[in-house]
Amino acid sequence: MSNVLNWQLGREMEYPYDAAYPDQQFAFIFNINRCIGCQTCTMACKSTWTFSKGQEYMWWNNVETKPYGGYPHHWDVKTLDLLEQANPGGQNWGGKPEDLKAPYGKFNGKTIFEAAKTFIGPEGANRALGYLPTDDEWSAPNRYEDHPVGNEKGVKGQYFKGGELLPEHKTWFFYLARICNHCSYPACLAACPRNAIYKRPEDGIVLVDQERCRGYRKCMEACPYKKTYYRGTTRTTEKCIGCFPRVEGKDQASHGLPMQTRCMASCIGHIRLQGLIELNKDGTWKEMRNNPLYYLIHVAKVALPLYPQFGTEPNGYYIPPRWVSRPYLHQMFGPGVDAAIEKYSAPDRELLAVLQLFGKDQRICHRYEIKEGPKVFETEVRGKKFVMYNDTVIGYAKDGTKIIETTVEEPLHVRPDKHANSI
Ligand code: SF4
Ligand code: SF4
Repeated sequence: MSNVLNWQLGREMEYPYDAAYPDQQFAFIFNINRCIGCQTCTMACKSTWTFSKGQEYMWWNNVETKPYGGYPHHWDVKTLDLLEQANPGGQNWGGKPEDLKAPYGKFNGKTIFEAAKTFIGPEGANRALGYLPTDDEWSAPNRYEDHPVGNEKGVKGQYFKGGELLPEHKTWFFYLARICNHCSYPACLAACPRNAIYKRPEDGIVLVDQERCRGYRKCMEACPYKKTYYRGTTRTTEKCIGCFPRVEGKDQASHGLPMQTRCMASCIGHIRLQGLIELNKDGTWKEMRNNPLYYLIHVAKVALPLYPQFGTEPNGYYIPPRWVSRPYLHQMFGPGVDAAIEKYSAPDRELLAVLQLFGKDQRICHRYEIKEGPKVFETEVRGKKFVMYNDTVIGYAKDGTKIIETTVEEPLHVRPDKHANSI
């Protein structure tokens, strides 16, 4: 085991290999507040990469209804349970948030790598604590779709007063869109006895070498997000490839510029933003103040990692749903939840402008600029002043090509009467 810095946990942790960081890291932000569960992303991925024989149950991108749904079923609860059994009552956070090296304070509990040493399963010690889902758990990708939770129930036929009141709805659910997190410390890679899994030095995308893989499924057991999939027809494991030909700028439509994945580009809710992040020698993020991901994660701090306590340093970040029970969100996204929701609920001028960049162009936005516009609206959000300006936000690719220009106020197009019945 080596000691590596996991900045999401605010401390060093044990990992089976020495730290090695890519030149740039594939990373993304999903704004859960905007997801409508339409599964367009899911089908965009499936129709591109997993439509062949043996891939029927393979959903590299899936969207599940939380808290009850999950693919495989109960993936997160089961791993949380294992960690709790390994370290009863000790899975908590402390310390003070500091910039870059400990933005959420310090995690005092055990990661899946640390817990594996003391919590020995029936097959002996593993490199990461995990479990292999059953066939039944993989059988339905969208079980419990739209099922809410809440201890106060409405009465049939009557309006349920308070059910929808913020800051926390009494009855709630939300859609959690998921892909492989192309983790900085991948558990799949750590667990593979064949060294078949590797992290690309050019962009941090995690891939399975199909020639080396023998289908032992140790990666499936170890990945806490359950994002590797066994294919019976080839007896190998497959996973999200981060649409690497697009990220490399090889898609014809990109004209040589790095492009976002199919799931990001097809998202009709405009909840997704993908980027490539430059890293310091210790794996922390280089200061890129006007990179939209850097800004949202490290400056505005509205986007948070998914289950950072697992310890893989996932590169998928989420703007938490602002209507959901806070203890549930704390467990899922760590201690940054309250500040993130507070900021997102009454965004300042810069945040509102940067949020417009989601889903506006398929190419990867590396840097943004804001041109100030007139004040168009003013109100109060739960006692806090909120002012809206119609600013223009301009996005540039890494080579300086302008790829986006959009305003905070969306233009309104009124269809003329004569087209009222036309499609
Ligand atoms: S999410 Fe799972 S499959 Fe993806 S890199 Fe992390 S550990 Fe590996
Ligand atoms: S396409 Fe976008 S809005 Fe639709 S389910 Fe996927 S992430 Fe959510």
